[in-house]
Amino acid sequence: MEIIESIEDIRLQDPPGEEFTSADLTWTKYGTSEHHDDVAVIPYERVDAFIIGECSIAECPTRFHIEKGRKRTRGSLTSYKSDEYLEYRLYWCSFGPENYGEGGEILPSRRYRINTRNRAARPQSMRGCTCNFIVKRLYARPSAALLIYNDRRQHVNKSGFVCHGPLDRDAIGPGAKTVPYICDEIQQQTMALIYLGIPEENILQNHIESVQRYCGSNSKVSMSASEYVRKMGIIIRRSTHELDLDDQVSIKLWVEKNKKSTFIYQDASDTDSFILGIQTEWQLQQMIRFGHHSLMAADSTFGLKKLKYPLCTLLVFDSRHHALPVAWVITRSFDKQDVSKWMKALVDRARSVDSAWKINGFMIDDAAAEMDPIRQDF
Ligand SMILES: [Zn+2]
Repeated sequence: MEIIESIEDIRLQDPPGEEFTSADLTWTKYGTSEHHDDVAVIPYERVDAFIIGECSIAECPTRFHIEKGRKRTRGSLTSYKSDEYLEYRLYWCSFGPENYGEGGEILPSRRYRINTRNRAARPQSMRGCTCNFIVKRLYARPSAALLIYNDRRQHVNKSGFVCHGPLDRDAIGPGAKTVPYICDEIQQQTMALIYLGIPEENILQNHIESVQRYCGSNSKVSMSASEYVRKMGIIIRRSTHELDLDDQVSIKLWVEKNKKSTFIYQDASDTDSFILGIQTEWQLQQMIRFGHHSLMAADSTFGLKKLKYPLCTLLVFDSRHHALPVAWVITRSFDKQDVSKWMKALVDRARSVDSAWKINGFMIDDAAAEMDPIRQDF
């Protein structure tokens, strides 16, 4: 196999059609004989068409999320290699890379069904998928994007087995043979909606629509979806959050157990007010994906009159203009200093994944308190 050492020797491909997949491209081995990747060069403006295509491959319906992103400003480099990036994004299949448990330690991907009393339980949706690719907008040629597949065996786990979709031989659980695993993203979105207390029929409709975008519509899909939504509702209603009789201790224990989903925690003291900021990994991904170059909104009306500690929900809007809750902040303080503290923590978290992350606008319902921190932090 011939190995190409310079990007300039790779021809630009622009496959016809609204979207296309890796199978529509001719891949070139690029690098050195010791280390080389499969690469292809496409017009930068067609990157989305490629990503949408890669998400809708019939054998492995999925989504790709940004696992890491970096950006440079034009003209910031005086000398550079031909494959240097202007924008760098590592996309990872949303069935991977790993499954995180309470406290944030990595759980091994489950290959077998664990015997729980909840018979509806399907194996974890995080399946340890290793499928990932890099998109580099080229510094020397910003109109072109270099696609890099480090290993183009698609949608397999570390052991090399297909780990989701209809070809997954470990599909266990009711209806798993016909209904592919529903990726984490949909499940978590549905859970978030249940937590918010949105009526079950609305959640169900939203859930079925999302699932059908993966695997088309059939009655089995709709049936298992409605069962799933109903069961999640019951589980959430029955769950209890009181870990200790003392609320302050209870919160500390909760934060300790949910480190990975806590972006800020400030315990109440004589000088500081209580702030708790919650954002799951999935919410972070949605914030990065839909907040970038787009709008974010803060809704701090929930519980303002009723609760001692009101809840502020931060929202982004998906491609169909549905609002997605991407973070929650529980605090009584609307002090500029405190608002600024949690906003900065939130922005820092997004930028630790994608340093280029930036929103275009912020909609607020309490202009006086939040204006200055937004100007500073976003
Ligand atoms: Zn995958």
